[in-house]
Amino acid sequence: MYDYIVVGLGLAGWAFTRVLEENRKRFTVFDPGEPNASTASAGVYNPVILKRFTLAWKAAEFLPYAVLQYRRYEMETGRKFVFPVPIYRKIASAAEQNEWQTAAGRPVFEDYMDDIRFENFPGIDAPFGFGVTKNTGLVDVAGLLQTRREALEKRGLLRREPLDYSRLEISKSKVRYGDIEARRVVFAEGFGLKQNPFFGHLPLMGTKGETLRLRIPYTDWPVIKSNVFLAPIPGSEEYLTGATYEWTDKTTEPTRQARELLSGKLEKLFTGPYTVTGQTAGIRPTVKDRRPLLGVHPAYPSLAVFNGLGTRGLILAPRLARMLYEHLEFGMELLPETDIKRWEKPSKI
Ligand SMILES: Cc1cc2nc3c(=O)[nH]c(=O)nc-3n(C[C@H](O)[C@H](O)[C@H](O)COP(=O)(O)OP(=O)(O)OC[C@H]3O[C@@H](n4cnc5c(N)ncnc54)[C@H](O)[C@@H]3O)c2cc1C
Repeated sequence: MYDYIVVGLGLAGWAFTRVLEENRKRFTVFDPGEPNASTASAGVYNPVILKRFTLAWKAAEFLPYAVLQYRRYEMETGRKFVFPVPIYRKIASAAEQNEWQTAAGRPVFEDYMDDIRFENFPGIDAPFGFGVTKNTGLVDVAGLLQTRREALEKRGLLRREPLDYSRLEISKSKVRYGDIEARRVVFAEGFGLKQNPFFGHLPLMGTKGETLRLRIPYTDWPVIKSNVFLAPIPGSEEYLTGATYEWTDKTTEPTRQARELLSGKLEKLFTGPYTVTGQTAGIRPTVKDRRPLLGVHPAYPSLAVFNGLGTRGLILAPRLARMLYEHLEFGMELLPETDIKRWEKPSKI
């Protein structure tokens, strides 16, 4: 009998199976291996919301733990996934220069916001300079997940297929799926949660995001950010630009509209020559109240959910995976704002 069946191998599934491994739990994973939000991601880790100069929820608190987990995985696999790199946020005006400097002087930002710098990137006009970040970087998410898939497959722990919800037989202390028995199922399906009959009621909104892959005649640039970002793709000479935010289209097809929108925004930032070499789309698992979705099914305690990583899955996934694990195994409280209990209807008096 397994301890866990994990459904989904994006960043959530990656992080949760890492905790299981660390705790010597027996598990098996279901994932069809299709492109997902994680493989579509730009792979940037940065706790500061650079539009408003505020910190994203729990980001500064969770970031060191996340980077540690990705680094540990590098050491175990002998591969490189983490690429520390500053983000150069283009400053638009003298007023914004002041805002950056004021924010950077505040203790909460001292680990993340550095001075304003004036550097020359051909094709980028930045008369007010760039606000530069510290302790930010890129993770090669596609490489990380591919390595994980291959390793799990070698050990016979990955089933390259979707889990069919209708075949789950649930009893109080275990779950059966065909010839597999497990104590628990953890659903980490990203936007796929919408099809899940046990947790599909949760208010996962889903925000489609698209990026373009580009070639420009320059190498070794940091991440440059204005209305769009231009980010180097680790291990290649190409860059990614993006991303779009679209709330109605829930397909993962790349669109012409997004391509035109992104090219238009890019050309405002960068007037040099570029060639588009690819386009990717994914659905971010965003939630109505912008907080993750963790917890246990109210009627079936052997079923749990790990979702709602939103726009900053890289920073959030490792720490939340541990919290969910400790909740399931030791009954430790979840952070109330992440607990799915907040979406249970209050009973009528
Ligand atoms: C364009 C874009 C750019 C982004 N950029 C960043 C960034 O720079 N930094 C950052 O931190 N975050 C970024 N994000 C957000 C980040 O990608 C997400 O928060 C994160 O990837 C969500 O991971 P997940 O594992 O929950 O979902 P997913 O990555 O979508 O994984 C879910 C997996 O579950 C599988 N699945 C679903 N249903 C089933 C089933 N029934 N059986 C088996 N498997 C199933 C799916 O096939 C999929 O593989 C970006 C997202 C997008 C779309």
